[in-house]
Amino acid sequence: MCRNGGSSVEPPPSVRDERDSTVSDLSTLYQRNEVFAATFDKGYLPITPNLTTVILTCIDARVVPAHFAGLEVGDAHTMRTVGGRVTSRTALEISMLWMLASMQAAKPSMELVIIHHTECGMTRFANPEVAARVTERFGSNYVVDTYAITDLAESLATDVARLRESELIPRELRVSGHIYDVKTGQLTKKIETARIG
Ligand SMILES: [Zn+2]
Repeated sequence: MCRNGGSSVEPPPSVRDERDSTVSDLSTLYQRNEVFAATFDKGYLPITPNLTTVILTCIDARVVPAHFAGLEVGDAHTMRTVGGRVTSRTALEISMLWMLASMQAAKPSMELVIIHHTECGMTRFANPEVAARVTERFGSNYVVDTYAITDLAESLATDVARLRESELIPRELRVSGHIYDVKTGQLTKKIETARIG
């Protein structure tokens, strides 16, 4: 969702723009799944992930934690929202994950790793003209206020603050903030790991 014009990197040839909206890629997914399932041998994995990190990042197709963080099947919970933004629903779901972890261990250890990224589509929502259109479309400032990104360090800090303000979030939860660069594939820590409370 975050294609950006004026890029210095030439995009690979694509037929996408020539296709009409009735074309479905679903069969492609099933063909790939057939290959995946043919050699799948991870059916023994438990519900509890191998890692204590819970990743929250954007739905952008270029931002794939399994690739850039080398996650294997069973490694980590991954939550994806538009922009990787924390909303009241995200807070609720993190609280639910904490509850699940509490059923497995008396003292759950969990670090929420928030990852925002360069060229995010939500930076477009920060453009005043686009923001005005979005606000008109949805009838309130909610979408722009919740999702628009002007500065990545700022949006990360805002999301950590949103968690801190949420009564649903356990004070023991550790949180850190990071930026993923879609041009270099590199992850950079912006907010050091700290407890919410
Ligand atoms: Zn994005």
